[in-house]
This record gives sequence, structure tokens and C-alpha cells, in this order.
Amino acid sequence: MELDNEEPDPEFEDAPFTLSLDQPMDTVFSREPVLYIIHDRCFCCEIGVKKIYTIQSRRPITYRLLIRQLIRQGLSPLCNHRFLEGFDEISYQTYALFFGS
Ligand SMILES: [Zn+2]
Repeated sequence: MELDNEEPDPEFEDAPFTLSLDQPMDTVFSREPVLYIIHDRCFCCEIGVKKIYTIQSRRPITYRLLIRQLIRQGLSPLCNHRFLEGFDEISYQTYALFFGS
């Protein structure tokens, strides 16, 4: 099945941010059992507060599982850039969220 990324995923319609990832949601993001997702800045600003989300899974972590966990843990954008565009790998098992407009 061809996945169209322009089509919003119904599971995340009510998410507090808009998904703008260039990967289908069921793509495996990582096979590590634990990931640390850091939210501490946007290109427009230094947020000043560093939030770290811990994602654990016994299964490979897909984008869907990752986003689901982040929403469950309360992730929301801290400025007007509400499009989650990706994850920058900053060290082993550790990624920084990248929001844009
Ligand atoms: Zn911003």
C-alpha cells in the first residue's frame, strides 16, 4: 500500500501538534529498547526548559509508537511552530525534537 504523507493520520488528528514527518508512520525509527527525546529549543528561540521524554519498548520503535508515547507523556510545542518535522540524533539513543512551520 502506498502511504500518502499529505493525508493526516486519523490516529493523530487531535494531537497538540501537527505531524510533518517525511516517513510513513509505521516505519521503524529505532530498534533500541530505550530512547531519550529532548525538547529544549526551536529554531526561533531557546525555550530554556529542557524536557526529556523516555521511550521504552520491547518491540521496534516505529514513528507511530514514538509519537503515541510523546503525546501520552504530554508533549506540546512551546512556541508557534507546531509542525513536528523530525528528530535530530544528538548522541547514542538520544534525539532532539525539531519543530518548524
Ligand atoms: Zn519556534
